Amino acid sequence: MQLALVDMQRRVQSRVPLPWLQVDSEWVRTQRAAGRAIVRFADIPLEWSDFRLTFRQTADILHRHDALEAADHALIVAMGRDGHVLEPLVTRWYDATSGVEGGDPRDRLPADAPASLDQVLVLALRPFLARCAEALAQRAELAPWPHGHCPFCGWEPDFAVITPNADRRLICGRCLGQWAFAPLTCPFCANDDRALITSFATRDGRYRVYACDVCRRYLKAYDGRKAPRPVMVAVDSIATLPLDAAAMQRGYVA
Ligand SMILES: [Zn+2]
Ligand SMILES: [Zn+2]
Repeated sequence: MQLALVDMQRRVQSRVPLPWLQVDSEWVRTQRAAGRAIVRFADIPLEWSDFRLTFRQTADILHRHDALEAADHALIVAMGRDGHVLEPLVTRWYDATSGVEGGDPRDRLPADAPASLDQVLVLALRPFLARCAEALAQRAELAPWPHGHCPFCGWEPDFAVITPNADRRLICGRCLGQWAFAPLTCPFCANDDRALITSFATRDGRYRVYACDVCRRYLKAYDGRKAPRPVMVAVDSIATLPLDAAAMQRGYVA
């Protein structure tokens, strides 16, 4: 399923232009000083007919692999056909979850929306949003970002990579943007008491888990210190499914 998703996202991403982001440096500085992300919904190079197709195809792939129930799948595909429903819904969802202009993540979706809609939106928006993160990562003026949420789109990290210098870079679960973050601080609750961070690795030392004993959440990482290749999120998140099982067995949640 992951491979089918990645394959589709790659195809979409290749036809999305790299956006020319008109961002005012002063505004960027103010946003970052306030801990707010900088990609506004209007900045995303979103072509609606392409997005609607990607959205429906994402739902189809999840459904085919039993990750989306038939009833929810039918509802989501119907939404994806109707631009009048989908466009305001996606805009509201992004504004509420990115926090670029404040916004409350609890207001992200209508109360009667299927629970799996969040996941479909994250995956369907990724190829478009990833182009923004790519464009912004090339800008040298960005100062360090000490927060656990994504500096570009405000979402949570979903994976991490340990660099050869033993720094840790978090990888956003929505736009795949990366940012350096303290290796032994929990990105979810900011706990930085090393005694309350549990870390364990796979036997070959290639992957590692950092679990927080305060909020009970965990994050996986690819250990680039002994690795022959760079991190490949799609491959590495599948290769580490046994680590998820091990973390959950110890009472942590993703
Ligand atoms: Zn992001
Ligand atoms: Zn925590």
